[in-house]
Amino acid sequence: MQPDPVLSPAGDDSDSSLDQALRPRSFDEFVGQRTLLDNLRVYIQAAQGRGEPLDHVLLSGLPGLGKTTLASLIARELGVECRTTSGPALVRPADLAGILTNVGRGELLFIDEIHRLPAAVEELLYSAMEDFAIDILIDQGPNARSVRVPLQHFTLVGATTREGMLSAPLRGRFGLLEKLDVYPPADIEEILRRSAARLGVGIDEAPLARVARVARGTPRVANRLIKRLRDFAQITAAGRITDEVGVDALRRLGIDDNGLCETDRRILTSLHRAGGGPVGLKTVAVAAGEDPETIEDVYEPFLLTEGWLMRTPRGRCLTERAAEWFAKNGGKSGTAQRSLF
Ligand code: ADP
Repeated sequence: MQPDPVLSPAGDDSDSSLDQALRPRSFDEFVGQRTLLDNLRVYIQAAQGRGEPLDHVLLSGLPGLGKTTLASLIARELGVECRTTSGPALVRPADLAGILTNVGRGELLFIDEIHRLPAAVEELLYSAMEDFAIDILIDQGPNARSVRVPLQHFTLVGATTREGMLSAPLRGRFGLLEKLDVYPPADIEEILRRSAARLGVGIDEAPLARVARVARGTPRVANRLIKRLRDFAQITAAGRITDEVGVDALRRLGIDDNGLCETDRRILTSLHRAGGGPVGLKTVAVAAGEDPETIEDVYEPFLLTEGWLMRTPRGRCLTERAAEWFAKNGGKSGTAQRSLF
């Protein structure tokens, strides 16, 4: 089974230089999330006014909403370095210790997927965040002793798609807790407009609205779509994204009129085959060819808000809307709009 080219985390980000080009380079270029940005501006100015490093920041929100981008923009506003790592990359406490001892005063350490830190690494982070010192164990057996290593007063920016999975001691050590919400269609249109301009491709108003409707309020999805639409426009429409190009490209990408992609349809079909559910998450994930966390973080939020699927204590179930859709389409989800991959 191929990963979904637009939605899957394993999908298309191969053209990373394009991604760099599309990333906002200042707070002013960061579209939407006004309250959050206004708050951050105040905290940054206040910290700078006092000549102090910024308090630790926790950014939470679904994948692709701009947490990594914001971390680098905070560093830019502060005029400091930003070191980047992630929860799964920090396997042993020594991995984190090596990074912490190299972070300068006022600098930013960005830890993506911070909810996935191993317990021993997380514990080391507690004293680093609170006391700006860590205890490192040296030697083994009867000679083992702990040495306290002072750190520079740094700022930790943590990002998580699962705020609920953070332990209370870790969560409690962040001074600033900021949540990113999915973007309204107007913001997604603005992001699409800017990205099209950066990519040097013209786009009409109709496809702009059409793509914004299926981008799930997520800038990453919007940017992946605009890159693919640019390809289709280049080959078929003299470099301009007209509505015809938009309709054709979305169809080729396997996105139907309801905004459902091939993986969404696989999820819904697996529930339909099980009589509408309930079906456990792991079984749904196997049927859809994605891991359970991706199903929960990437696909389900849209299926839930659009009223296709319900989460119940016993598993996932189809909604009435989905059942009606299957009844009307002869129970053959995905055949009307088959993906071309
Ligand atoms: P996350 O870390 O939350 O998964 P990213 O920061 O990697 O998300 O953002 C995904 C992409 O979406 C980035 O390449 C960035 O260009 C774009 N993006 C995210 N938020 C915005 C925004 N508010 N305005 C414009 N582009 C954005």
